[in-house]
Amino acid sequence: MTIYVLRGPAQTANEIEADSDGQALEGARAQLARIEPTTRTSWPSVRVFRVGGDGSEEYVDQVCITLDAVVPLCYGVREHEWRSPRELGFGDAGGGVVKHGDGVITTWVCRHCGSELRTDTWAVDGCTGEPGARKVSYREAVRDIWR
Ligand SMILES: [Zn+2]
Repeated sequence: MTIYVLRGPAQTANEIEADSDGQALEGARAQLARIEPTTRTSWPSVRVFRVGGDGSEEYVDQVCITLDAVVPLCYGVREHEWRSPRELGFGDAGGGVVKHGDGVITTWVCRHCGSELRTDTWAVDGCTGEPGARKVSYREAVRDIWR
């Protein structure tokens, strides 16, 4: 058995025992599987280090996953009905479609609850560091549409 340290999101560090690097990486994957998704796309990662007899740490590999955004609830039993901000009378301010690199950022507002749906097709992939990833983020009731 070898000791491994799994360094995860938010500076967390767990020690595990494993028979091999592969098994330690499986442990890292299991740790990532327990992370709750949020209202925005995220790329949580865990870095795996092998601990030597003298306590030194040797980097093994990193496990990273894409965690899709969860849709927040609309009012009651309604489903969100996404509209362009302009259509709901918010003008161009902070809404519509804007270019971002080789992609676009689109913003939609729900006509029932005022939540905002933003999709960036040129986000940086948190695992690879490369642009071109799709990042979805929801913001709940950012505007009071009942005014
Ligand atoms: Zn809604």
